[in-house]
Amino acid sequence: MARERLDRILAHLGLGSRKEVKGLIKAGKITVDGRLANDPGEPIDPESCCLAVDGQCLTYRRHFHYLLNKPSGVITATTDRRERTVLDLLPAEWRRPNLFPVGRLDKDTEGLLLLTTDGQLAHRLLAPKHHVDKTYLVRVDGPLGEREQKAIEQGVELEDGYLTQPGRLEILRAETPGEGLITIHEGKYHQIKRMFAALGLKVIYLKRMSMGPLQLDPALAPGEARPLTAAEEASLY
Ligand code: URA
Repeated sequence: MARERLDRILAHLGLGSRKEVKGLIKAGKITVDGRLANDPGEPIDPESCCLAVDGQCLTYRRHFHYLLNKPSGVITATTDRRERTVLDLLPAEWRRPNLFPVGRLDKDTEGLLLLTTDGQLAHRLLAPKHHVDKTYLVRVDGPLGEREQKAIEQGVELEDGYLTQPGRLEILRAETPGEGLITIHEGKYHQIKRMFAALGLKVIYLKRMSMGPLQLDPALAPGEARPLTAAEEASLY
């Protein structure tokens, strides 16, 4: 792998912010192949050396990915002065400066959110031409039926004139006619709320159940996250 600045690598591995890892270097806690590091800007290839903190070699990983069950009331951002962000929900040792959410869920939307350090992967999952399916459990303030299913299959004209790509709506149970599973391939701003609004319905609950090959893990309570399994990670590449 190409060489990178020592402080960047340490921050990527979750040892703290760039400022904090500079402190570790200054405090004489970091060695590179047994030699005390003193220059935060020193170029290092972390895959071919032993980078150690207090004598313990670190295992280098190129990328980190976490699956979060986003709760309502938290914003999809990396930092915010006033509001709690999805990154605030992670344990401190998983947070790192280059970790960010893939796409955006509204503040009141729940469910699957992928957090990654891999910008190229995020780009691929979000690019419209890749047609990655996103499925949401939706509850609206009226009954769903064939009219809504047909409209979503054909594409819905939003209030700004944009015609959505064909999606899919599955109505779950006769006893809960306002509930369905909607699958879309795009990610326009407030897309699902705007699609139902165009059909005269208000979304009262929205939860993302899957994105491409990733499924929301039922073992994760709202607000909980876990690293992707090796199989989940492999399914994304
Ligand atoms: N569509 C919406 O309207 N909101 C979301 O959070 C996701 C998709």
